[in-house]
Amino acid sequence: MRNLYEEAWRELEKSNKVSTLSEKTWGLILDEEENTGKKFDMGKPLWNTLPIKEVEQIVNVLTMGAKKYGLDNWKIVPNAKDRYENAMMRHYSAWKQGELIDEESGESHLAHLACNALFLMWMENEAKKNVVLEYPLIRTEMKVCKICGNKRCPRANDLRYACNDSNEPHQIAIPVEIAYRDMLNRHNLEYSETNVRTEEHQKEEKEFKEKYGWK
Ligand SMILES: [Zn+2]
Repeated sequence: MRNLYEEAWRELEKSNKVSTLSEKTWGLILDEEENTGKKFDMGKPLWNTLPIKEVEQIVNVLTMGAKKYGLDNWKIVPNAKDRYENAMMRHYSAWKQGELIDEESGESHLAHLACNALFLMWMENEAKKNVVLEYPLIRTEMKVCKICGNKRCPRANDLRYACNDSNEPHQIAIPVEIAYRDMLNRHNLEYSETNVRTEEHQKEEKEFKEKYGWK
């Protein structure tokens, strides 16, 4: 990796083009070269070398697709992998045979090709994610909250969280201690207004402790 950059740099030096390049682009490579000779910051991706006009052409293809089929529809079409591979190759074939612009969209065949390649890349990454996600699902039994019996209760997966007594999706998980403190705060507020510490408050506090096995 480093040798390629080094070579490119030498070539540019020879051809005297170095000064025309932006400092931003070559700053990483120039870094400390004078003093130490070889210390390049190659770990960081050079985002500023991305050819933005061509990326914009790909975005144009994406935008047309979103207008035609709906936002993110490309993620859910059936047989997606085969379709995108075939579409990618159709655009490649047209381009290879000398047709530069896709008639239907008016955009470059190569932009379509790249767009399909991005879809395939996305699918590959998704597939990797699923491998990681599915593994524990296969191996563990379904967990449910021991108090309410719901699998989507935040307490089902982590005993530090209070039971919500609900199976709604995307519930907010609140640690038991904080739920208890909130209840006491509410009781104290009512107490300060009425000056009466009701039996109901005491009952609720007692039940809370019993629920979570507190002494
Ligand atoms: Zn629960």
